[in-house]
Amino acid sequence: METKNCKTCTKKVKTFATEVYCNECIQQKCCMRYTPDSIGRQMCNNIGNLIKRSDKMYCIGHYKRLLQNCKTCGEPHREGDPLGYDGWYYCKTHKPPKSEQTMCVHLALKNVMCPDLIQQIVCHI
Ligand SMILES: [Zn+2]
Ligand SMILES: [Zn+2]
Ligand SMILES: [Zn+2]
Repeated sequence: METKNCKTCTKKVKTFATEVYCNECIQQKCCMRYTPDSIGRQMCNNIGNLIKRSDKMYCIGHYKRLLQNCKTCGEPHREGDPLGYDGWYYCKTHKPPKSEQTMCVHLALKNVMCPDLIQQIVCHI
């Protein structure tokens, strides 16, 4: 971990993030700041970069919390079940159908682009 300065208030922070926010400033960004995180603490985690999904920002702690349940129905994430290719967790019932074409695009691009971008490309082919 490195000591860096918060992007907003310049306070010193120990973090792995490249977009650095202190404990207070990350709460202004994370859309789940009023919800307990993956281990039941009501606070945001600034150890990594904020994650953007469906136009909302999540801190890494709250993002993990989100992945504990199916995005559609909230069914708990079964251990070992992979995430959907869009980075969300879906139960068996709600897993989006994956065409072979979609899979190929994701495989080809996953090392060079973030899933959101790939998803946009997939929508246009
Ligand atoms: Zn700050
Ligand atoms: Zn958060
Ligand atoms: Zn579901």
